[in-house]
Amino acid sequence: MKLKYICINLIVLVSLLSLGKAAFANTSESLTPVSVQINWHHQFQFAGFYAAIAKGYYQDAGLDVTIKSWQPGINIREEVVSGRATFGTSYSSVVADFIKGHPIKAVMTSFQYSPMVLLSQEPITELSQLSGKNVSHYNNLQILALLNRAEPEVEEPTQTYPPTGNLDDFILGRVNLYGAYETNEPFQLNELGERYYLVKPGDFGINSAEDLVIVSQEFATESPDIVDQFRQATIAGWQYAVTHQAEIVDYILANYPVIKSRQALLFEARATTKYVRTGEIPIGSLDPARLMATAAESRDVGLITAKELQRFNPEDLIASRPDANALTQAEKLYLIQNPIIKIGNDINWAPFEFVDEHGEFKGIVADYFKLFEQRLGVTFQPVVDTKWSNVVSMMQSRELDMLTAVTPTPERKAYLNFTTSYLSFPMVLVGNQSTLFINDYSELTGKRVAVVRDYWSHEYLRNNHPEVELVLVDDVTEGLKAVINGQALVYSGNLAVINYTQQNLGITGLQVVGQSNQRFELAVAVHKDNPLLLSIMQKTLNNLTPEEKGQIYTNWISLEMLTRLDRRQIFYITLIVSALLFLMLVWVLIYRFQKKRLQKYIYQVNDLSYASAIDPKTYKILWVSKRYRELTGYSEKELKRISCTDAANPENMPKDTQSILTQVISGISWTGEVEGKTKHGFVYWVELTLSPQKSMFGDIHQILVTRVNITDKKRIEELSIKDELTKLHNRRYLTQIFPAEIRRIQRKNNHVALALFDLDHFKLINDNYGHEFGDDILRRIAGLATEYFNRGDDFLFRLGGEEFLIITNDTTLENFEAHLQDFCAGLFALKIENQGTEHGFLTLSIGAGVWPAAEVSNFTDVYAPLDKALYQAKHQGRNQVVMVKHD
Ligand code: GH3
Ligand code: MG
Ligand code: MG
Repeated sequence: MKLKYICINLIVLVSLLSLGKAAFANTSESLTPVSVQINWHHQFQFAGFYAAIAKGYYQDAGLDVTIKSWQPGINIREEVVSGRATFGTSYSSVVADFIKGHPIKAVMTSFQYSPMVLLSQEPITELSQLSGKNVSHYNNLQILALLNRAEPEVEEPTQTYPPTGNLDDFILGRVNLYGAYETNEPFQLNELGERYYLVKPGDFGINSAEDLVIVSQEFATESPDIVDQFRQATIAGWQYAVTHQAEIVDYILANYPVIKSRQALLFEARATTKYVRTGEIPIGSLDPARLMATAAESRDVGLITAKELQRFNPEDLIASRPDANALTQAEKLYLIQNPIIKIGNDINWAPFEFVDEHGEFKGIVADYFKLFEQRLGVTFQPVVDTKWSNVVSMMQSRELDMLTAVTPTPERKAYLNFTTSYLSFPMVLVGNQSTLFINDYSELTGKRVAVVRDYWSHEYLRNNHPEVELVLVDDVTEGLKAVINGQALVYSGNLAVINYTQQNLGITGLQVVGQSNQRFELAVAVHKDNPLLLSIMQKTLNNLTPEEKGQIYTNWISLEMLTRLDRRQIFYITLIVSALLFLMLVWVLIYRFQKKRLQKYIYQVNDLSYASAIDPKTYKILWVSKRYRELTGYSEKELKRISCTDAANPENMPKDTQSILTQVISGISWTGEVEGKTKHGFVYWVELTLSPQKSMFGDIHQILVTRVNITDKKRIEELSIKDELTKLHNRRYLTQIFPAEIRRIQRKNNHVALALFDLDHFKLINDNYGHEFGDDILRRIAGLATEYFNRGDDFLFRLGGEEFLIITNDTTLENFEAHLQDFCAGLFALKIENQGTEHGFLTLSIGAGVWPAAEVSNFTDVYAPLDKALYQAKHQGRNQVVMVKHD
């Protein structure tokens, strides 16, 4: 036994030595030095740290904290990983760094969301208003995510203007939007009396945290206590700083080199508060959902891949908290320094504790202490031949370290501290088999009750129930015998002791006939000035499993006795159980009624609406309505196998699917028109609404998708822009899209190329072969033109009759002319008979031109010269191309 303890001691000692000075910091009263690398000039942004220093919170936690000043170019993550700094404050992009494999952990967050904003000269309420704006910013995650979200909304892309750090860029209008901290630049603008508006990424669903406090993985693993103490003290610091802003501002000014004015710091303090303390969220807390949102934004702006995002578990990033019941370094050291702990026990109090005929410490309490010895690797030395009254005086004279099992009384509390009670037994009444159940002590008026002199029950009955006639005995055995002999009606005492004595002496014929509300509560007691030993004992008790306790209990207490314990309890239990059953019945009835209603509703949804539900994590379809199934032609099984985006028509997906899904996952619904493709390849259009559904716990557990079939509407729309005969775009569509198309080409800095063509002597075709044949030819020409001009951004229009227009871009005059010649030759090669013409076959004439897109603003600008060139082509003998010459 002893050898084993020595071994355990050695192991603890070795592990302590390997932890270095940290282990000895608390006991030697010296503090553990740690440092924080901040990521900007000293200012209120770091108030939590200053306040924790100023108010001694770190010192109380055994830490000596140095705040390391920031210098441009410093990489916070590197500082922390290399160990040059213990902790660091970093931007939220550090989440991406973690995902990319950098060995860091997050301790807390100073700000619950980012104070990063864009200053704007005009109010911005819609992302589309960012169209074509100049933005100066530092590639900060929130701003990048905002611009990324704006991309599909804007007509013209935003332009990035390299940041100079000079606010004049904004004031003088060199940029439209200026990346800033809400806590800083607005103050400067207020001072200068400049007008500005704020664009806050948070208003557009960008949710990332900011100013994460990080630590290296190595440090987090080796010293979870220090990390946790630092975290708690810093949070306490923030708590103080946001409620005592001026005091902390003055402290910063007095102790650190500060660039800002006192006024600016006070402004910053006010502006900072709402980022630190938001609603119900406790200061500093790291919300896994917010870390996930940060990761999703990192994916949107390309810092990490979609795969990496999928693998990311936010819990992995958060530094784990030390086990509350694990012993601290100081406690472990105490055990090493005190391998033998002297305990004060009763040598004659079976079954709790007693010393048997071989001088061995036995009983329920002794079994507990055997377990404690195994856990703690020390020896608990009991007294073996000292009476209880002497034990108490030995404790008072400090010859003993603790009392093993005592009730906390006011007198004892004066010099002892107690753990929570670990043994608790009711006071019971024991009587003959024939004695009726006693519900209350008042039923014992005038009856004889045996109690052991000076035991707790004696005191209790004497003080509280003078109407009871007491029969005083010397011990339990005598008390039980008094009942058997009829000297007393009942014996009042501790259940465990009665139970044990009865078994040991082989007494039968007695039973529990009543129970008091009073209980014996037994706890470990330690000298007031020894808090370490108290917390060691408390933690050890907390760590005992119910199985271990149960095992000890059944070793000493007969369960048979306990099951007969209390008819009154049984009555209460029956009452509660019947009440519960009744409630359940009511609940079942209500539930069935609700379910029926719900079922009806579900049938309706199923039969009438195109609905489905999607898993927000995997994007897999969880459920589909019957009607939607019928629309898609897929079976439910097939739909569940495919991802939700697969059910859409890939040729016509909204370009920003990912950002739509991210928006929905962040809790904001989305509605838009989406084209779908059925299993059999038919195309349909729906107006789709994605509504995030929150679970009881507030997380988004599914996305509900509802659809309105708008295929007909789309068809009508399509018809209105298409020419019915050739299926090419019609003239109306040309006027509708021309300006936007030109702007698009302008943005790409390309040239726009246009060709107007007209079939030669087409009237003859109609005259000679019939109008219907003429129609057929028109369709063939349209097909041929589509073959020759088939790039994604080529447009073909039938302007009327047999006159067509081609719009294309990104070509030179020479290439365009050559391609148009080929097109003429292509028609000629078809050898479509047209008797009575020069060639005998159908030909066409083209007037075409190429313009720098910037010079074109509307269609009429170009139509006149094109028409002129076409006219010239006709006059020069047809079947040819005439290019518009610019001067
Ligand atoms: P040119 O070489 O000078 O163009 O001679 P043209 O005969 O082609 O003369 P023009 O372009 O003026 O005549 C257009 C003819 O095209 C008039 C009409 O009979 C015919 N046409 C216009 N629309 C349609 C149509 O939808 N179907 C058919 N079959 N013919 C059409
Ligand atoms: Mg013609
Ligand atoms: Mg014509």
